[in-house]
Amino acid sequence: MNKVFTTSGHSVHALQNINLGIKEGEFITVIGPSGCGKSTLLRIIAGLDTDYTGKLSLAGQPVLGPGIDKGFIFQEPRLFPWLTVEKNIASDLSLHDPNIRRKVDELIDLVKLKGFENAYPRELSGGMAQRVSIARALLRNPKVLLLDEPFGALDAFTRSHMQEALLDIWNKNRTTMIFVTHDIDEAVVLANRIVILKPRPGEVRSVVHVDLPFPRKKSSTSFQEIRFKVLNEFERIEELSWGQSGAGI
Ligand code: ADP
Ligand code: MG
Repeated sequence: MNKVFTTSGHSVHALQNINLGIKEGEFITVIGPSGCGKSTLLRIIAGLDTDYTGKLSLAGQPVLGPGIDKGFIFQEPRLFPWLTVEKNIASDLSLHDPNIRRKVDELIDLVKLKGFENAYPRELSGGMAQRVSIARALLRNPKVLLLDEPFGALDAFTRSHMQEALLDIWNKNRTTMIFVTHDIDEAVVLANRIVILKPRPGEVRSVVHVDLPFPRKKSSTSFQEIRFKVLNEFERIEELSWGQSGAGI
C-alpha cells in the first residue's frame, strides 16, 4: 500500500510499500519518529482516508471505508462535555434500550468506571476520560481497535495503569489492536509485534516480535534486550534522517 499527499504542487510520499499482514487477535504497536506516517497509516486502516494506491485488507477482509467493525481512539479523548460518562459511551444509541443499557454497564465495569456513570467529562482525570473513549469505541464490538498515541498526554504513572487496563481488555475480548506510539517502553510492554517505521518516505524499517509473557516486567533482562533492539533501530533511523537533505525539525 502506498500513499502520496499532494499540496500546492508539492508531493510527500507519506507511505511506501506497507504490507503488514495483520492477524485477528494480534496486538501490534507501530512506532517511529514524528512525521513518519503513523497517523496516516492508522487513518487508512480505519477507512477514514481512501485516497491511496494498492490493496488493504484486515484479517483477510478488504477495507472499503469506515465501519462499526473498527473503533478509533485519538490522543485526546474527544468526549461530549455536555453528556455524562454513560451517555458518552452510548453515543447515539439510547440507554432506554435494555440491550444498550446492559452493554454500557458491562463496558463501565470493564474500564473500571463504576460510580462515575453520571459524572461529566470535566469531573474526570485524563486517564478516566481516555477510558471513557475506549469504552465508547468498544460499544459496537469492533473487530479492531485503532489507537493513535492514546496515552501520549498522560503522566508516566497513569500511562502505565492504562497500559495494564488495555491489556486486560485485550485478554478478555481479543480485539485486534493496532496501537501507535512513539514511546519505546510502551511499544514493548503491549505488543506481539512491533512495527518500526522510518520517515521520508514512510516505510517499514523493521519488525520485532515480542514473545514475552504478560504482564511484562520492564526491569527484566528479556524486556531490556528487546527494548535495546528497538532503540538500536531508532538510532539508525535518526542517523539516516539527519544525513538526508531537507530533513529538519
Ligand atoms: P506521524 O503520525 O507519524 O507523525 P503523519 O502520518 O501525521 O505522521 O504524517 C506523515 C507525513 O505526511 C508528514 O510528512 C506529514 O507532513 C504529511 N501529511 C500528513 N497529513 C497530511 C495532509 N493532510 N496533507 C499533506 N501532507 C500531510
Ligand atoms: Mg501522528
